[in-house]
Amino acid sequence: LIQLAIPLNFIGFVYREIRQGLTDIEQMFDLLEVEAEVEDSPDAQPLAIKAGAIAFRDVHFAYDPARPILKGVSFEVPAGKTVAVVGPSGAGKSTLSRLLYRFYDVQQGAITIDGQDVRDVTQKSLRAAIGMVPQDTVLFNDTIAYNIRYGRPDASDEEVRAAAEIAQISGFIEHLPDGFKSMVGERGLKLSGGEKQRVAIARTVLKSPPILILDEATSALDTRTEQEIQAALEIVSKNRTTLVIAHRLSTVVGADEIIVLKDGRIAERGTHAGLLRQNGLYASMWNRQREATEAEEHLKQVREAD
Ligand code: ATP
Repeated sequence: LIQLAIPLNFIGFVYREIRQGLTDIEQMFDLLEVEAEVEDSPDAQPLAIKAGAIAFRDVHFAYDPARPILKGVSFEVPAGKTVAVVGPSGAGKSTLSRLLYRFYDVQQGAITIDGQDVRDVTQKSLRAAIGMVPQDTVLFNDTIAYNIRYGRPDASDEEVRAAAEIAQISGFIEHLPDGFKSMVGERGLKLSGGEKQRVAIARTVLKSPPILILDEATSALDTRTEQEIQAALEIVSKNRTTLVIAHRLSTVVGADEIIVLKDGRIAERGTHAGLLRQNGLYASMWNRQREATEAEEHLKQVREAD
């Protein structure tokens, strides 16, 4: 029986490995499926980045023809500047980032980078120029160092460490039992949304792309995590063309321009101070969020006092 038990154990191990392999393949196919929505045009050229200016011109888009999501959206992200998009849930904010990364094509209008339509350039060159920090980063079942180095596979250990520091995640990593060699992902340590996002920021630091898309995590983060992410982003987005898809307003205060999206159209635009003065949708969203934060802080104080 003992003789039998070992191979059975081994079979169990192999089975789990295969199963995990299949999940990885499924994830890969999920990704491929998204990418299959668009194809390189036969005469696609590599994107030639000059300054990295982005323009959305009269962009119309619907996932389902019966339900338009974007109904003529125009704005620019000048080279090196930061533009934040805010608005109610479901307004189409993340859709803008997916269109810029060309997971889907616009149905009317155009998106250009330094004057080149994203549909006319190779997807490979487009994606090499853009650093995407998505809402929910998928981590590989490997070490944390591997996950960061994915941004630039030839990066040295020192560079990986420096990137983690910029992303405000090095303190956390150094406290893990195996430091940078700790296993993460489904089969290792499960990181929180905020930690995963900082790993994605560290990846992006290594990749060092001229354009950055940050799709903020929708999930609520505690104030400290939020401040750490904010500090990391300020460093990373400096002198890079940055599009922030903001689900919380605290991260947009310093943006060069804030676009307020509602029902697929731009409802308001301006700086934080300018929009507060307008006393419109942004101002009411800001006040509501401030009240909610204050109520939360108050509740915390009451709990701590107990
Ligand atoms: P939130 O702040 O809640 O993340 P958002 O403004 O970023 O919202 P989007 O993710 O851009 O909203 O989605 C806009 C609308 O499009 C939503 O109503 C959503 O349900 C729908 N949608 C998003 N992705 C798809 C998809 N792949 N297929 C069909 N509909 C989709």
